[in-house]
This record gives sequence, structure tokens and C-alpha cells, in this order.
Amino acid sequence: MGIRIGVLALQGAFSEHIDAFKLALQVLDPPGHSSVIPVRHADEIPDLHGLAIPGGESTTISRLIDKNQMRRPIEEFEGGIFATCAGMVLMATEVDDSRIRTLGLIEMNVERNAFGRQRESFETDLVINGFDTPYHAIFIRAPVVTSCGPRVEIISKIEKGIVAVRKDRHYAIAFHPELSTDPRIHIRFIQGLGV
Ligand code: GLN
Repeated sequence: MGIRIGVLALQGAFSEHIDAFKLALQVLDPPGHSSVIPVRHADEIPDLHGLAIPGGESTTISRLIDKNQMRRPIEEFEGGIFATCAGMVLMATEVDDSRIRTLGLIEMNVERNAFGRQRESFETDLVINGFDTPYHAIFIRAPVVTSCGPRVEIISKIEKGIVAVRKDRHYAIAFHPELSTDPRIHIRFIQGLGV
């Protein structure tokens, strides 16, 4: 059966996610029965196996999720969610910005823009649990997880805080795996969807 991935396309870096998922699916499903679509309507969500929430502005994406009546379909989504950067902020139960209504799908506290102005953007080689070589990660005005619940798996941590977590089929990642050419994180997410 083909794997159906959707990328929330309300604001932010969604086209890069579409390309990155296509690349990962070429590796996992060479016959090409799988699909990756931009998601702009709430009724597109329940049919998917996986949904990406991209980077962008978490304040804006939070507002647009409500405006497009997507909050319930996302909260009730039975597949896996792949949330990066602003997406990580939205997955949290708590965030240090009252303008954002989070989805609360991963029990964690998140600090927005945790690296401040001086290190707005940087690249670093990260140790990621389960990968035998480092992963070259691109951080852009990234959040960090300051604490998380006992059922949340910490996948990667740096001095400043936790930068990647998994909860069941959901992943939240502070950096931008869609901007690197390394498909390992996307592949791991897709393999965990149980399709
Ligand atoms: N700092 C942004 C926010 O919290 C996220 C930045 C990004 O997604 N690249 O909305």
C-alpha cells in the first residue's frame, strides 16, 4: 500500500518538506505508490498516514490552524506528526508565549527562539540516538525543549536543551531536517508510521 504524507501548507517552509519526503519515499518505496501532498483543507487530514508541520512563524501558523478549522482534525489525527521548528513549538503542552495556542500533543515545555539573536542561525553536527554517524543540523531561530514528560523519548540534546523528541508516532525537531540532504530522520519517521 502507498504511504500518504501531507505537509501543512498554511505558512512557512512547506515546499522543502515536500521535496524531502519525496526523496525519503524514493528510498523506502521505489515503485512509487506513495504520495506527498500540500495540506490546505481540514478534510484532507484524516486520510493521511503522516502529517508534517513545518517551520515558519508559530504565532501565525497557530492562528491559521484555527482560521482553517484544522485544530480538531490535527488533535484527533491517528497517524504520525513530523513537526519541525515552529512545528515543535505547536506540538508542546506549554510554551513561553501566550499568543500561541499549542496543540498539546507532546508533553513538553518549549522555549521559543531559545538561542537568541546572536545565534539566530547556525549549523552543527548532532549526535542523534540510533544513528551511527552525526547528523548535520541547520538551526534557524530555533526553539528548545526545556523539560518533557516521562513517556517522551529524547532523541537529541545539546548544551542549551533538548532538540529532538519522539512520542509514539510523533516527532518534534528544533532544527530543519528538510533543508539538509540527509534523509535519515524522514526515513525513521516514515518507518514508524506502521503502514
Ligand atoms: N522562531 C520561530 C517561531 O517560534 C520558528 C522559526 C522557524 O520555524 N524557523 O515561530
